[in-house]
Amino acid sequence: MRLKTFKFGIHPKDMKELSHDCKFEEMPTGEKVYIPLAQHLGTPASACVEVGDYVKVGTKIGEASSYVSCNVHSSVSGIVEGFVLRENAMGKRIRHVCIANDGKYEEDFLPPLENPTREELVARCKECGLAGMGGATFPTHVKLENKNPIKALIINGSECEPYITTDYRLMIDKSQEVLEGIRYLAKAIGAPEIWIGIEANKDDAIEEMLRVTAGDNSIKVFALKTKYPQGGEKQLIYALAHQKVPAGGLPSDLGFIVLNISTALAMYEACALGKPLFSRYMTVSGKGINRPANIWVRFGVPFVEIVDYLGYRDDVQKVISGGPMMGVSLHSFMPVVTKGSSALLLLIEEEIRAVDPTTCINCARCANVCPMGLMPMMTDALVLKNMIKEIKPYNPLSCIECGCCAYVCPAKRPLVQSQRLAKKLIRERKL
Ligand code: SF4
Ligand code: SF4
Repeated sequence: MRLKTFKFGIHPKDMKELSHDCKFEEMPTGEKVYIPLAQHLGTPASACVEVGDYVKVGTKIGEASSYVSCNVHSSVSGIVEGFVLRENAMGKRIRHVCIANDGKYEEDFLPPLENPTREELVARCKECGLAGMGGATFPTHVKLENKNPIKALIINGSECEPYITTDYRLMIDKSQEVLEGIRYLAKAIGAPEIWIGIEANKDDAIEEMLRVTAGDNSIKVFALKTKYPQGGEKQLIYALAHQKVPAGGLPSDLGFIVLNISTALAMYEACALGKPLFSRYMTVSGKGINRPANIWVRFGVPFVEIVDYLGYRDDVQKVISGGPMMGVSLHSFMPVVTKGSSALLLLIEEEIRAVDPTTCINCARCANVCPMGLMPMMTDALVLKNMIKEIKPYNPLSCIECGCCAYVCPAKRPLVQSQRLAKKLIRERKL
């Protein structure tokens, strides 16, 4: 199979060997869960339960408060104890619903859908609170409700971030359910074709997806070159369709919608089982964790319970929620599992690069790897001088924050932070 790919990018060590053979195991849930009302992109959900209410697994506890918002559901059965402010992984204090787990796990699911129409599928996706589970957490129903004619649903099976092996395991261990979810998604957007892109370092996942899709001519499985950020929406579309999403445009403008493997599984569970989104599969890895694992875990479980369950070394230097390229560093284990928690990484000294930045030496390596064709060194230099107006031609708004530039920079410049700051200032100053 000829490998497809995009221009530029990097080849970080993938470190997937730590967890790729770890089959999913259920993470035990403690006496309390803390479920944030904001665990998706857009406006937070509004609480629709009160202190003292009895809720079941799947009971709606937060109602989407706008179009770009998601419903939130309980992950346990028990009594709502209160509303507490806790830090999320981004360090922001937000409202969490605290529920005392009665350990009975009584369920409050919806009836399964039989031969659903497009409208019923979108409505189910919305009711069950689906959000992109690769980490972006964009409300899935908003993507499904797009009005452009769609040529193909693109399924992102690349899982290009180092360490993470959740989607890989789902393609191996739950291929049939994933495929059913993909079919529901394709029907919901009226896509005549389905393209599944998987990086070549997951050859057994490619084989499994080829096996389960054999005989269905509407589905094509493509092997992608193992390169970061192969799973970026724009990079995936370029690799498979050789088309560029214009700056400020959307994949649907070109007739594509991109969703990932975990989201497809969530769609299967919502439609076939009536299960609202209250749990996820995630990878816990890094050399700092005693027992790397792929776990099934309920939302609202604090990370501290996960690391206590799997054990960790006392020389951990860095903790990351998500992958090492696009995830966020944590300063405590108190944040909880949410819709976007694709991974939890505990890294030791040999896995990180803790050095202070020095002056740019104008080597242009950052520009040579940028998959968006940007010049990160220019943005960085101009941000330092607070010359925000002058940054605009360097187009930081197109930056996908993949981190390739910072990864290769010999001066260890904080190039992603510069891009983020530039975006923020351009928007704030309405340039
Ligand atoms: S400038 Fe942005 S898009 Fe380009 S490599 Fe850096 S983080 Fe990635
Ligand atoms: S890679 Fe680093 S040192 Fe080289 S040009 Fe870019 S910012 Fe400067």
